Amino acid sequence: MARVRHGDTVMVLSGKDRGKTGKILRVWPERDRALVERINLVKHFERRGQQQQAGGVIEREAAVPLAKLAPVCPRCRKPVRVGWARAGDGPKQRQCHRCHEAIS
Ligand SMILES: [Zn+2]
Repeated sequence: MARVRHGDTVMVLSGKDRGKTGKILRVWPERDRALVERINLVKHFERRGQQQQAGGVIEREAAVPLAKLAPVCPRCRKPVRVGWARAGDGPKQRQCHRCHEAIS
């Protein structure tokens, strides 16, 4: 089961975007990487084409290793480690390691 999922708000723990938060746009579990909104921006050079008039430099997100990301607990409001809990025979649920609040 994945520690982080599409749509989660995560904080970056290391690197140049350390301390920033963003929403996960895409996850590649097999590559242990995710795309996070406005995190790890790289400059990308677009040639002037038929579709777009302008061309020039645009910024876009690059994949971030999952090890650098932690979900932000809605109660602690901090990046937390993910624990797992199971209510009865129900499915495993993610929860905050610190306060045991469920992370949907
Ligand atoms: Zn918590």
